[in-house]
Amino acid sequence: RQEVYRELRKKPSVTKDGVQVDLLMNAGLAVDLPQLAEAGAAGIGLFRTELQFMVASTFPRAEAQEKLYRDVLDAARGKPVTFRTIDIGGDKVLPYFKGAIQEENPALGWRAIRLTLDRPGLLRTQIRALLKASGGRELKLMLPMVTELGEIAQAREIIDREVRHLSRFAHHLPTSLKLGAMLEVPSLLFQLDELMKAVDFVSVGSNDLFQFVMAVDRGNTQLSDRFDTLSTPFLRVLKQIADAGVRNHTPVTLCGELAGKPISAMALIGLGYRSISMSPASIGPVKAMLTELPLDELQAFFADNLMAPAQGLPMRALLQAFADDR
Ligand code: PEP
Ligand code: MG
Repeated sequence: RQEVYRELRKKPSVTKDGVQVDLLMNAGLAVDLPQLAEAGAAGIGLFRTELQFMVASTFPRAEAQEKLYRDVLDAARGKPVTFRTIDIGGDKVLPYFKGAIQEENPALGWRAIRLTLDRPGLLRTQIRALLKASGGRELKLMLPMVTELGEIAQAREIIDREVRHLSRFAHHLPTSLKLGAMLEVPSLLFQLDELMKAVDFVSVGSNDLFQFVMAVDRGNTQLSDRFDTLSTPFLRVLKQIADAGVRNHTPVTLCGELAGKPISAMALIGLGYRSISMSPASIGPVKAMLTELPLDELQAFFADNLMAPAQGLPMRALLQAFADDR
């Protein structure tokens, strides 16, 4: 199989009927970078910057952050890289962060963009490091756990201030700066058009989005078999997001675990996703599926079944039958 996947790396990333789908990889540390070439990823769709913070024993200095980001962009050799600002809090605790608080519900608590907007020094240092590391190249930046559009505006103010600061000191700036939001909190589903207009791109964090849509702790093994990520309501949510992206000409990608399993990656492509990001080991199996997928037939399948599902059979079983038949 590994041999088959290696051969596939040279093939274009298109469905059987010729529609391009970009397969990107998730990463977070320098050790992940050789995987870009090995897995044949089209770029890094999610760089989890908090990992550098989690493996350290104190806050990484600005210079260390800048060096990592520069190394990542160098290794990507012009392929797109999307950096996510620090996503700590919730299940990701930094033992040396003295400001951390005990929370009754950490997943719903002081985490990600909520935390960094309250501790803007953290965000400012990181943004400055990212801007410096991206001098002369494109910088794609995304914000985790956005709940209200105001958070994007607040982050943008901090970014603009850093850009002005660096240009005043004649620093080499990025050639372009794209700001995106992760869609992980259901409140954004009720303001999709406004969201799409407020950012340059959206990336669905399906791990957290599923957790919050279904009210099921993503780490609770007692519940892990009860609810299905390929159930009709969740697929409808994912379709609404993809449709809103098309309607507003805003690129939408998805970077949760869902992208890494061939059957669910197939569903995502059928729902309209043309860019998905996954762990490097998943790229081979997903590409093998992609090149065999008659997308026109899958679209017809969803047109028939998504809004009026066949009685009795769960959506996963229908999708599995679709895949088996082909
Ligand atoms: C997600 O929530 O789907 C996601 C990609 O972010 P993380 O898994 O790092 O929370
Ligand atoms: Mg998340």
